[in-house]
Amino acid sequence: MAKSYPIPQASNNPKDFVIATMGSHSALQILKGARDEGMRNLVICKKGKERPYKSYGVADEIILVDEWTDWNEALEEELMKRNAIIIPHGSFIAYLGHERVQKMRTMYYGTKEILEWESDRRLEREWLEKSQLMLPRVFEKPEDIDKPVIVKFHGAGGGFGYFVVKSPEQFYEVKRKKYPEEEDFVIQEYILGVPLYIHYFYSPITKELEIMSLDKRYESNADSIGRIRAEDQLAANIYTSYTIVGNIPIVVRESLLPELFEMGDRVVEVSKTLCGKGLFGPFCLETIVTRKLQIVVFEISARIVAGTNPFIEGSPYTQLKYDVPMSTGRRIAREIKQAIAAGRLDEVLG
Ligand code: ATP
Repeated sequence: MAKSYPIPQASNNPKDFVIATMGSHSALQILKGARDEGMRNLVICKKGKERPYKSYGVADEIILVDEWTDWNEALEEELMKRNAIIIPHGSFIAYLGHERVQKMRTMYYGTKEILEWESDRRLEREWLEKSQLMLPRVFEKPEDIDKPVIVKFHGAGGGFGYFVVKSPEQFYEVKRKKYPEEEDFVIQEYILGVPLYIHYFYSPITKELEIMSLDKRYESNADSIGRIRAEDQLAANIYTSYTIVGNIPIVVRESLLPELFEMGDRVVEVSKTLCGKGLFGPFCLETIVTRKLQIVVFEISARIVAGTNPFIEGSPYTQLKYDVPMSTGRRIAREIKQAIAAGRLDEVLG
């Protein structure tokens, strides 16, 4: 498909471009990262949600919209006039939807085609399997449940309403009570272990894969159930939910690092066989590490994740590699800056 935005290819000056993002998720970090790399930035906010971007003083320009449905031609024209490069994040894709993102004409950092692989459970699994990662077993039908499983309903946004059961009877009981109408769900083996979210960055410019940082999530009420006695948990008949509230930094046991790098390498390599430019920029493998130190991957996010937010001043890992505080947001801006200066911007746009 021909690119319809007027890439000012002639310019090798990063100051002719503006790093733009939507005001949510990891925007503070993205905006500050652009600033730290000496690039201009702008943020598009829903009216009433602009306070953090004003208060922390990280935005050069704030564009306000009433609703995300106002992300229309007129807004795109404004963005294109400024040579804006959009940095997608989780909320950006969730609020605008894949189809609208595909049609956008404004310059877009990252591969749009990979969104299809990431958002379709079957395709995502195919990608991760080809990458030789360990995945939770998937149960085709509730009757097959013979061990603890986690049931993920499609409508259960942000992990709210996932539930754990260990038999077909239990499954149907919870389903009848909570999701009588819903038929779109996946039944996965419940992996007992600790969650570990690995934040990678792959650069097609330097051809290097970096591990930027790691986190675990702070989830309600999964992280609060342990605060009451087991018998009280039973008495209160609590269903576990995984609604994310925040992120907690992790430093991983050092002997796991070689394997984590290799996992990331394989995901990038395989992605190149799936679509055009493959996966590049920030991405995250969402895993559970078992007591035998098996790393089981239950999801991939093909963009910056909010788990990178604790590392605005860099992580222990980026401190090893860089002589300035390097957040993932800043790493993105640096990549774009280097690509522009080298006349290779097209290689990092989707
Ligand atoms: P995202 O925001 O990345 O799309 P989500 O909020 O929709 O994710 P998941 O990432 O799928 O939800 O998982 C939510 C929670 O469920 C996580 O805390 C994770 O640890 C837990 N979880 C998911 N799959 C499994 C599994 N197979 N075994 C054990 N726990 C799991």
